[in-house]
Amino acid sequence: MRLNNLTIKQASEKLAKGEITSVELTKACLARIKEVDEKVKACLTVCEKEALASAKEADERRKKGETGYLLGIPYLVKDNILTRGIRTTAASKILENYIAPYDAEIIKKLNRQGAVILGKTNMDEFAHGASTENSAFGPTRNPWDLDRVPGGSSGGSAAAVAADMCLFALGTDTGGSIRCPASFCGVVGLKPTYGRCSRHGLIAMTSSTDVPGPITKTAEDAAIVLSAISGKDEKDSTTADVEAGNYESKIKNSIKGLKVGIPKEYFVDGMNKKVKEIVETAIKKLEQLGAKIIPVSLPHTKYAVPVYYIITPSEISSNLARFDGIRYGLSENNVKNLMEVYTKSRGRGFGAEAKRRIMLGTYVLSAGYYDAYYLQAQKVRTKIAQEFDQVLSKVDVLATPTSPNTAFKIGEKSNDPMEMYLEDIFVSPASLAGLPAISAPCGFDGGLPVGLQIIGRRFGEETILRVGHNYEQAADWHNQKAVL
Ligand code: GLN
Repeated sequence: MRLNNLTIKQASEKLAKGEITSVELTKACLARIKEVDEKVKACLTVCEKEALASAKEADERRKKGETGYLLGIPYLVKDNILTRGIRTTAASKILENYIAPYDAEIIKKLNRQGAVILGKTNMDEFAHGASTENSAFGPTRNPWDLDRVPGGSSGGSAAAVAADMCLFALGTDTGGSIRCPASFCGVVGLKPTYGRCSRHGLIAMTSSTDVPGPITKTAEDAAIVLSAISGKDEKDSTTADVEAGNYESKIKNSIKGLKVGIPKEYFVDGMNKKVKEIVETAIKKLEQLGAKIIPVSLPHTKYAVPVYYIITPSEISSNLARFDGIRYGLSENNVKNLMEVYTKSRGRGFGAEAKRRIMLGTYVLSAGYYDAYYLQAQKVRTKIAQEFDQVLSKVDVLATPTSPNTAFKIGEKSNDPMEMYLEDIFVSPASLAGLPAISAPCGFDGGLPVGLQIIGRRFGEETILRVGHNYEQAADWHNQKAVL
């Protein structure tokens, strides 16, 4: 087996036994990137020299007796997460040449553990999207079918993991951006509870739902990365002081007797029938593993997309105000006055989707519309969260499809923002409620991966990872690889 194909768990065992070195592992990943990324276009920046230097350092640390799952493990980082000294663009022209002056808190944590950064991955500009077509640097392609999107917005990270360019990748999930691409690319994506992992050093999209998290080849690997990146951070006051825990060992426990709720609103007519069948088969498998399947209802689900697309643009219009041509990135200097610095820099720097969201957000926050749209959306958001809490007091987790469809063709939905927004129908509710959720591969429709989403209670990552791990062991879809 090629070293880049290994999981974190497998590679760390080999590293610990001295069978391989981090330098060898890192070289294998870099070679794989060279071999296939011309076609996939998952990476925006590859840091070959720096990666090999950190791999060497990791090997030396191991020689001195240091241990740890992530010591010497190569990974890729979504390009909206700051990495000191490395270009960090958020896939936007406005940050095309921006070098991050410091590391995000989660990167610091991974550095301390000795993980090795290979480079930065493509995404929808500022994480606005569900296909990675909104990148200013061109779309990433799905390793299972190069004519199709990898999902978004963390499409580069998911495609890179699916194509074995790295052992794991980091993404961010604001309204599905880890889970959607994980499902389209046939890998595992974990959106942690809001506040479980620090947002310090993330380029903010929607501060009230943004969460960084891992995209991996197995649920076990997701547990390993989550343990490493979670925890309270003084620099992010929304992080919670909840014990991070050792997820990796606990997720091996069985799911006998676990109550799995099936919300009927997630199995609707308009969705792809084959996806529905595949997810229903996956749920049967959970039943065979001893879980109790319980039909439940979440009637406010249908409001999640409209609520999300009011709250998200509102926060975006505020968060993107800092990109004014003065403080960061692109600055237009062929101008007559200060106002023109703003308008020309923003006009040239932002893509169409970022502009659309800035305008939408500014509109719904303006006097006269604030109460009708923004305030109303916040009230419905509270209802959605309360409804989840109620149902999750009776069941342990919820099982649903991650997406209503499999990966669509590049260009198929990019001219119709509404259709693209509807892709978020099953992922946006958990984001609005701040709940943890995982997407795990559960089958194929016409050669394209389908994802099973498991939503858990607040800080209930251990349980959703346990369901993911048990399912994976029984079903074995995670061992299927795209041929490139
Ligand atoms: N598709 C969602 C959006 O476009 C997801 C974004 C995200 O999670 N970053 O807003």
